Amino acid sequence: MEILLAGGAGYIGSHTAVELVEQGHDVIIVDNYSNSSKEVINRIEKITGKQVQAFEADIKDKTEIMSIMKETKPDCVIHFAGMKAVGESVAKPIDYYRNNIDTTLTLLECMKECNVNQIVFSSSATVYGEENDIPYVETMKRGNCSNPYGWTKYMMEQIFEDAANADENLSVVILRYFNPIGAHQSGEIGEDPQGIPNNLMPYIAQVAVGRRDHLTIFGNDYPTKDGTCRRDYIHVMDLANGHLKAVEFARDHKGYHIFNLGTGEPYSVLEIVEAFEKANGIKIKYEFGDRRLGDLTEYWADAQKAQEVLGWKTERDIEDMCRDTWNWQKNNPHGYA
Ligand code: NAD
Ligand code: UDP
Repeated sequence: MEILLAGGAGYIGSHTAVELVEQGHDVIIVDNYSNSSKEVINRIEKITGKQVQAFEADIKDKTEIMSIMKETKPDCVIHFAGMKAVGESVAKPIDYYRNNIDTTLTLLECMKECNVNQIVFSSSATVYGEENDIPYVETMKRGNCSNPYGWTKYMMEQIFEDAANADENLSVVILRYFNPIGAHQSGEIGEDPQGIPNNLMPYIAQVAVGRRDHLTIFGNDYPTKDGTCRRDYIHVMDLANGHLKAVEFARDHKGYHIFNLGTGEPYSVLEIVEAFEKANGIKIKYEFGDRRLGDLTEYWADAQKAQEVLGWKTERDIEDMCRDTWNWQKNNPHGYA
């Protein structure tokens, strides 16, 4: 299949591009590089040994996206393009609503006009909000998001659901990611946050490589066994494989479908630090700080549906996640720069 990856130069998009190309699909990457590097395209080509079509464009720009879709005629779109920093979304909510919602509307409009009927969307466990029991199941009520980023995902899911209800030709697959970490085993691509990392694993990796002095663990007084928050961490290559399954599913199924992509197994912050130390033989200096505003104590996925319906399951464990993160970071101490 020809698959257009909107935001395909980013962390998850680049790993998905490799997985899709290695499974025989053609990818068309469209990115404005607002949170990624053009070097990513070279790296994808190096890993796969294939040339990849890449366009520099803003997904909000309907004229540009129409022209790219007309030229490339994709069978399917995967929509990764979005702003994703929770804290920044609180400070700049308008930017988040504008970019995340507009990219979605533009893609749907262009798809309709170009007769492209399949789309897979990067959603997030954040749509489950603050009041659901754990583990999270796809059928649970959504909402009560704790920040504008989460609300953009909530709203985009609604837009996709309404669009699928109104158009019997449309296939929409919503993928709710839990906590993607790790990197491609080659160490050629990985997560390369701009500025100070917001997320745990890239922060640990930057402490390990000497770019940061120590990790601050946000709170050790949560009602968990070691007092730190627990999350469902998933290897980015397992997540990438979930997109392959989702694209194949969208090809054969019309309508609106939602899948959690997680392992179903939570780890605490301290367990992640210990796993990284053990996998890589490196000590991570840390201290405990205050709780981070908006953090939930713990949550993880019920990953049954993806297993049963998509035939997808995770194959990599926490040791793989920690080892591959370090392999990427030590080979690229300053990311793609
Ligand atoms: P990322 O920032 O690495 O990738 C997003 C890509 O989209 C970047 O390359 C960026 O340059 C591009 N982009 C943003 N706005 C654009 C626009 N208007 N036009 C063209 N390109 C644009 O993020 P990621 O971690 O790869 O996440 C991909 C998607 O998955 C995002 O929608 C994110 O919200 C979602 N998600 C990520 C996580 C996570 O922990 N990484 C968890 C849940 C959901
Ligand atoms: N965390 C931390 N220090 C950091 C970054 C994150 O202690 O510098 C904790 C955070 O409080 C949460 C967990 O690590 O409990 C995962 O955080 P991340 O931002 O990676 O994902 P999210 O909280 O968005 O699921």
